[in-house]
Amino acid sequence: HGHAREVDKTECLDLLAQAYEHNLVQFGENVREGVNFICNCCGCCCEAMLAAQRFAFLEPVHTTNYLPQISESCTGCGTCVNLCPVQAMSLVSANNPKKPKRRIAKLDAKLCLGCGVCVRGCPDAQLTLIQRPQRVITPRDSTHRTVIMAIERGKLQHLLFDNQVLFSHRALAAVFGVIFALPPAKQILASRQLKSHYLEKIIDRVGV
Ligand code: SF4
Ligand code: SF4
Repeated sequence: HGHAREVDKTECLDLLAQAYEHNLVQFGENVREGVNFICNCCGCCCEAMLAAQRFAFLEPVHTTNYLPQISESCTGCGTCVNLCPVQAMSLVSANNPKKPKRRIAKLDAKLCLGCGVCVRGCPDAQLTLIQRPQRVITPRDSTHRTVIMAIERGKLQHLLFDNQVLFSHRALAAVFGVIFALPPAKQILASRQLKSHYLEKIIDRVGV
């Protein structure tokens, strides 16, 4: 439809280098098979980054097995806070009675994608990427579990509407992806809870 064009390997590598220079996050859809997109994004308007902030529990974006570790000598300059695309970094008091105004960076590990953008950007090299204490739970299972629990409790509609999942088509796609992979009886249950003709038609088409 004129929205995409093929690029060769050289142009592709150039584009990746540009993305790296501009501190963009390279990520892919958080599924094990049939990845629909990879992207290089900032956090200001990318739907996937916004979904990662709002719906972290659905884990719509692939997360690495690393986390930035903040050194005790962090100067509190705030560069990492500005660079992080999902607002996983903030500045807090260093709790230093001798320097009551001193601030240091603090990480919200639940939001962090482990992309390393902040590590590259720290002007004083106060950040290091370390392995997460536990390997990331296979993300698709987490979404899977959330959706199944909602269906079993008859609350799928609340999961979608109360959490405003519909505002992000990628988070919605993650939920629908789980529904389409369910056994037929559960798909029918999901369809009834949502009262969605759209979902019914797709389920019919995939052959329930
Ligand atoms: S960019 Fe580095 S020095 Fe600045 S607040 Fe973040 S961790 Fe600390
Ligand atoms: S690695 Fe750094 S920039 Fe990337 S999500 Fe985590 S805190 Fe944000």
